[in-house]
Amino acid sequence: MNETSVHPRSGVLVKPTYGYVGPSPMRPTLKEVLVEWIDSINFVKDATRILPAAYAFYHFVTFGVFIFFLTRYFSVVSIAAVTTIGVFIGTVYNTVWYHRFCSHQAYRFRSIWFTRLFLWSNPICFREESYVIPHRIHHSKSDEPGDPYGPHLGWLGSYLATETQQKMNRNISRAEFDRVARSLDHIGFVKNSYAQFQKTGSVENIWHYGARVLCANLAWSALAFAFAGWPGVLAWISGVFLFTFVVRDFNFRGHASLFGTDKHGMPVNQFIYGIIAGEWHENHHRFPRWARSGLSWWQIDLPYLIIRGMKLCGVVTQYNSSDADAVSKAHDFDDLA
Ligand SMILES: [Zn+2]
Ligand SMILES: [Zn+2]
Repeated sequence: MNETSVHPRSGVLVKPTYGYVGPSPMRPTLKEVLVEWIDSINFVKDATRILPAAYAFYHFVTFGVFIFFLTRYFSVVSIAAVTTIGVFIGTVYNTVWYHRFCSHQAYRFRSIWFTRLFLWSNPICFREESYVIPHRIHHSKSDEPGDPYGPHLGWLGSYLATETQQKMNRNISRAEFDRVARSLDHIGFVKNSYAQFQKTGSVENIWHYGARVLCANLAWSALAFAFAGWPGVLAWISGVFLFTFVVRDFNFRGHASLFGTDKHGMPVNQFIYGIIAGEWHENHHRFPRWARSGLSWWQIDLPYLIIRGMKLCGVVTQYNSSDADAVSKAHDFDDLA
């Protein structure tokens, strides 16, 4: 198998430093993982890498707050608060928003303003496109060379993939940029021009991104402050860290049961991530466009109940209950040639 046959496109994402070809699936060494991660945040080499570098910095800062909060205010209530915040973000912003809406368009909002309400209130500084583009590639190349994250990269490789998957290829053609940008239309952000994309590596306008992330963080912090003063704000930031830690871990552990090396963890992995965020991921890989992933009676799927609740209130007009309901496949990256 040559490289073109496994990765037919010019590549929306930059090829990892260790390449795509190798034992299939590619299993980079620890050194290769670290070299690739440093490359992904090396903004001296490539100015567009300032975005993943900033995200890595954000992760470390929230980790510092998490440690400080839990040592300074250690109690059952503190742990419960941080866990509740992490599960809330995982359910609403990870599964309902990033995953089922942004990546798979499993449902439709009545108005773009409802979409923007999610966008402008999303407390995670992770750009939607950085979730969506690699995630669509992940579905089309699960556990194959070119899959941006998963057990084939090892735990650390998968954990650090949050930065490495942001290596956008700014040399894609204008036509390819237009196609990628169109596939993100439903998210409702202000887009960069092709020239701006070539400078920043971001489809979303950077000023728009900065403004909305600032608004969301000010609003959530103000709410936490109103609730419990400064400890409330620290608990909120700690919950944000907990969520980002778990989602990075999920890239490895949530898939180890599906196609990785560790088949033993399957029921446990599926159960934990299913219960805390509706990520019954084996079901999801079988039916990626469905609004529902919990398919057995015991598979609780809170995000699906939220989507149904939004349909009842008229916020959502339609959700996919079968492949026949799914909107055009044109939004997927499978056919991006
Ligand atoms: Zn997956
Ligand atoms: Zn998915």
